[in-house]
Formats: sequence, structure tokens, C-alpha cells
Amino acid sequence: MEQDKSQKEIVIAKSAGFCYGVKRAINKVEEKVKIAPTYTTAPIVHNDKTNQELKRKGLYFVDSIEEVPKGASIVVRAHGIPKNMIKEYINKGLNIVDATCPNVKKIHNIVEEYSQKGYEIVIIGDKEHAEVKGIIGWIEGKYDIVSSTNDIKKYEKACIVTQTTVNVELAKNLIEEVKNNAMESVVFNTACMATYERQNEAVKIAKSVDTFIVIGDEKSANSCRLYEITKERCNNTYFIKDENDLKNINIVGEKIGITAGASTSKSTIDAVVLELRGKQEAMKSL
Ligand code: SF4
Repeated sequence: MEQDKSQKEIVIAKSAGFCYGVKRAINKVEEKVKIAPTYTTAPIVHNDKTNQELKRKGLYFVDSIEEVPKGASIVVRAHGIPKNMIKEYINKGLNIVDATCPNVKKIHNIVEEYSQKGYEIVIIGDKEHAEVKGIIGWIEGKYDIVSSTNDIKKYEKACIVTQTTVNVELAKNLIEEVKNNAMESVVFNTACMATYERQNEAVKIAKSVDTFIVIGDEKSANSCRLYEITKERCNNTYFIKDENDLKNINIVGEKIGITAGASTSKSTIDAVVLELRGKQEAMKSL
């Protein structure tokens, strides 16, 4: 964690902002748009500002692959996509830019292998999330999605995996519960380290500040998790998209903590910090 020197009351999490998988995906897109027409049928990451930036750099956003010309490049986003979509891209003669995060790809490989071995795949995660929908597309057989204890059934042979951005503490309990309800089980805790470290650091800071701010997009699962877990530690926790939302929040106390989701750009974080400092300077001069 990094102490802001000029304004000691603002503590910015070191892990705030782009994670390794998002950086990798953005780099791939930025490199590709320079040399070839490049398309995507879905947001590259769950952050509108970041996607708009890629659009400005030349990435084409379309609704379906029918709109992508044969021979053009198409991006597979960091959250990954189902296997049949990859096949569809290949059949259409598209050049695939695979930006699936390696942590997500690892889950695809696990669920494909274990479903072929006859295991029922139990995904601890959110059934509406793009990553989970992508994972389902690699399963060859039965599966179940568990986001609370109410979802847990009885399993014969369960292969348990977690969405990469799960609430790590919650997932631990759910994994135990699923194991207790399975005659046989194998567990792959596939929460990614970036998520784990980010949550840990955010919790530590949230416990020590008067106001805590999470910067992210409401569609970003990892940003929402950060908000949920820090709100439990610091009552005055706020979820904002960018510096414009600061006017809607009530900053109390002497010390402000900040973190940001894995798809929040550094420029957005910097703009929030700058705006906060500006606010403080304005207060001082009153
Ligand atoms: S949060 Fe983790 S799994 Fe998701 S893109 Fe980042 S590094 Fe990959």
C-alpha cells in the first residue's frame, strides 16, 4: 500500500487498477489495431471508459460476427468465450486475437478435462457473469452453478472450480459445503491471485480509514466484490465510476482509502485523486 506524500490522508491501494490479465488483453488489442482491422462483439473488459479508449484507438465494436468481414481480426476478450464461438470464428475465416486471461483459460481446460472424465462441474460464481457463461461453454456434460448455500444440491462426482473474481472468503465456505454434499470431489480453487491480493489489501486499508472509495464500473464483478467486502469494514464506503461521481458522496473523517477494480484505468484513478485533492484545497481556502 502506498502513502500519498502530498496529502497524507489519502491512501491508495498498490493493487488498484489494471490486473495482469486486463493489461495483457489491452496490449494485444492495441498492437493488433495498429496493423489490421480488428473487431469485437462484446466489451473487452467490464469498464465503459476503458472500452471507449480502445474504440478511439481503432477497435470496431459490432453486435454480431455477421458484421465482421471475412479475414478480419476478432478479439476474444479477457473473460473468455464458449468453445463453440471459437469454432464459429474459425469457420468464418476470422483471425482470432485470443485475449482470454490465462487464469480463465486454465479453468476452461480443467472443466473440459474433468467433464470428459465424467465429473459434474460445480462452478462457484455468478451465473449471469460473462466469465461463467464462457466456462460453461467448455463443459461436456452436467454442471451446476453455486452462488449461495441455497444452490447446493447432492453430487456424485463433483469437480469444483471458482470464478476468478469470487469473494474469496465466501467461496471457501461454499467449497466446503459442496464437498460435504458430494460423494466424491476434486477442488480447484481458481480465484486469481490478482483478485485475492486486491481484496486483501482493500480490506486492510478499509479497516484503517474513515472513508473508503472503490473506483469501478458497476458491470465489473471484481469491483462490486471490492465494494461488498470493504463496506463491511468501513461504513463510509462508496462505489464510484469516475471523478464526476465524487460530488455525490459524503467524505467524512481525516483519512480516505482508495482502491479500483481490475478494469479501471490508471487515468481514471489519477483523475479521482486529483479531484479529491482539488476538493481539499478548495475546503482549506474557505
Ligand atoms: S482479474 Fe484475474 S482472472 Fe480476471 S483478467 Fe485479471 S488476472 Fe485475469
